Amino acid sequence: MLHAKLASIYDNVLHRNPGEAEFHQAVLEVLESIGPVLGKHPEYAESKIIERICEPERQIIFRVPWEDDRGEVHINRGFRVEFNSALGPYKGGLRFHPSVYLGIVKFLGFEQIFKNSLTGLPIGGGKGGSDFDPKGRSSREVMRFCQSFMTELYRHIGEHTDVPAGDIGVGQREIGYLFGQYKRVTNRYESGVITGKGLSYGGAQVRTEATGYGCAFFVDEMLRARGTSFDGRRVAVSGSGNVAVYTAEKVQQLGGIVVACSDSSGYVLDEKGIDLDLLKQIKQVERGRLDVYAARRGTEAVFVPGRSVWEVSCEVAMPSATQNEISAADAESLVRSGCIAVAEGANMPTTPGAIRVFQDAGVSFGPGKAANAGGVATSALEMQQNASRDSWTFEFSEQRLRDIMADIHDRCLLTADEYGMPGNYVAGANIDGFKRVADAMLSLGLI
Ligand code: GLU
Repeated sequence: MLHAKLASIYDNVLHRNPGEAEFHQAVLEVLESIGPVLGKHPEYAESKIIERICEPERQIIFRVPWEDDRGEVHINRGFRVEFNSALGPYKGGLRFHPSVYLGIVKFLGFEQIFKNSLTGLPIGGGKGGSDFDPKGRSSREVMRFCQSFMTELYRHIGEHTDVPAGDIGVGQREIGYLFGQYKRVTNRYESGVITGKGLSYGGAQVRTEATGYGCAFFVDEMLRARGTSFDGRRVAVSGSGNVAVYTAEKVQQLGGIVVACSDSSGYVLDEKGIDLDLLKQIKQVERGRLDVYAARRGTEAVFVPGRSVWEVSCEVAMPSATQNEISAADAESLVRSGCIAVAEGANMPTTPGAIRVFQDAGVSFGPGKAANAGGVATSALEMQQNASRDSWTFEFSEQRLRDIMADIHDRCLLTADEYGMPGNYVAGANIDGFKRVADAMLSLGLI
């Protein structure tokens, strides 16, 4: 139930942003948590901090024309939503996927404000992307698209202004093409303008692994808070992209057994534990589909086409594919199968109904803002290394990531306790992330 003041703010968000269901969902989830904060801090309501946070500072929509390998011209739409810069330059990834429209970019940008705040590092929130579908495109087509995209985007970004990175459909290859075009059109070797770069041109150790590793570290802390550990536990991961692969890698290093992962064609069940070298070869090198995994694995691993990975019984579920992938019915089946912890490697993969099912059943539920903040946190460390023209070792970078994740975990729990909702990571993350941004906005005058 929303506090009356917040209900009217939410109505206004619905009215001002018609047809943007994902954005509405992301706003409602935060507003549902921050009612108790308003009681303690009337100054937030007096200066309309929440209304201001719900309105992006700037929204850019642009045309991206490009030519495919046969010479045919295509036109896509590019977006960059610069949501909030109270804590630092706008920071957040670019998503290339046919589902991208303004409502998706706004939901992601809105989440990013609080996620970035939770890292404790000086980064504001933003997000961007395009409805371009990289699937089945050659590297040269992807390069031409990235060059055209950056030919417009460059004028809106900068190391002190707005710092993009990757997200779904944008990995190191795309970041390289984007950075190359930025460098060319600006004549500036401004490494800190984009993160997720390759190691040979200003990238940071552990950035590739960071979202997945960070999510595994977060679950390790959640399990520790329950007096247990990953040791020997069955873990299901959805997706098989960057987040899923490195989640699985760190879970296995921490003693868990990752028995399943998925892609849009179905899921693989591998009771012996996913073979990560084989998975990386298929998904990262060959850019192929999961159905070949079982055939090549040569054990009892099976590929289950067209079905949801959440029918697999597991003790820990780590959704790492996309938004709204766990329904309330999936959550009920996970709870019945003995699931005790869920952490969101993707952004908003759990529907509101599913979150309620997990929380009512006493499952430790780590929302994406907290659990997947390791990616953007390591991006902020990349910016730090670029600014000082330095590069840190893998070990040092991984330890920084581990400390940041433990700190986010502890602050979520402490804040949830302080507001009388023990164990509620959603409330803890939303309140803690919100307060830091709100306090900065109060100090900066009417911005
Ligand atoms: N796309 C990632 C996220 O959702 C990373 C963003 C970044 O590194 O700026 O947090």
